[in-house]
Amino acid sequence: MLLARRLIVKIGSALLVDADTGEICGPWLDSLVADVVRFFSRGQQVIIVTSGAVALGSRQFDGLGRPLRIDEKQTAAAIGQVRLMLAYEQSLRAHGLAAGQMLLTNEDIYNHQRRRNTWSTLQQLHNVGAVPIINENDTIATAEICFGDNDQLAARIAQMVNADVLVLLSNVDGLFTDDPHHNPLARLVTEVRCITPEIEAMAGHSHARYSSGGMVTKLMAAKTTMDAGCGMIIARGNEPYPLAAIENGAPSTSFFPLVKRRGASDT
Ligand code: GLU
Repeated sequence: MLLARRLIVKIGSALLVDADTGEICGPWLDSLVADVVRFFSRGQQVIIVTSGAVALGSRQFDGLGRPLRIDEKQTAAAIGQVRLMLAYEQSLRAHGLAAGQMLLTNEDIYNHQRRRNTWSTLQQLHNVGAVPIINENDTIATAEICFGDNDQLAARIAQMVNADVLVLLSNVDGLFTDDPHHNPLARLVTEVRCITPEIEAMAGHSHARYSSGGMVTKLMAAKTTMDAGCGMIIARGNEPYPLAAIENGAPSTSFFPLVKRRGASDT
């Protein structure tokens, strides 16, 4: 699947930000960017959807002793987004590539005019050889509706751009039949061709400190992409060169498109 013409790679906060220091994992990010650059140089279009803004900005609230409120998370996102983009920009610049920041909300995908603008900017970024780096626009997103779900955002973008595959890099190998931390008999589901109630029952809930996505949101993303004729992969991204690892057969769950994809759209 990774030889796709157009792919989206979604990176969760837990991979990018060291939970102890609250700092970006620089060497890991450089290895991911090296993977992306390799795809780029073989003519593939890559869009990165990245979390990490809230985690990086949360240091500003150190010592609070309670979980951040939504408005505090939005403030953290405003601060952390700058740190996040600086890290991507520096890493891509080392390869002679530019990073193009796009902060989006649901409306930018569902509203016709905004969707056209979003699409056109994505195309232009590719035309000038820049890598689109997308995050949800956390500071203006309506808290209850869309704040904090980059799995869904990535799936909607995959649908919008007629991507061939969406890769969700996570801190788990993929979808397990049961919680592998509690059930030693749990096994990895390597292929999913249809989201059945059994598959849905396998998804647990996330307890990650900063990110909001767990297996439930990943399965929702899978439904969106599969319906749109796009494949999806969930894989562990903790090790360096996570995309190369998938190409070399690292454990993962692949979700196959339900319908044949139409040709690349221009809207
Ligand atoms: N957009 C948020 C961030 O950059 C995280 C959203 C998510 O984890 O799904 O921190």
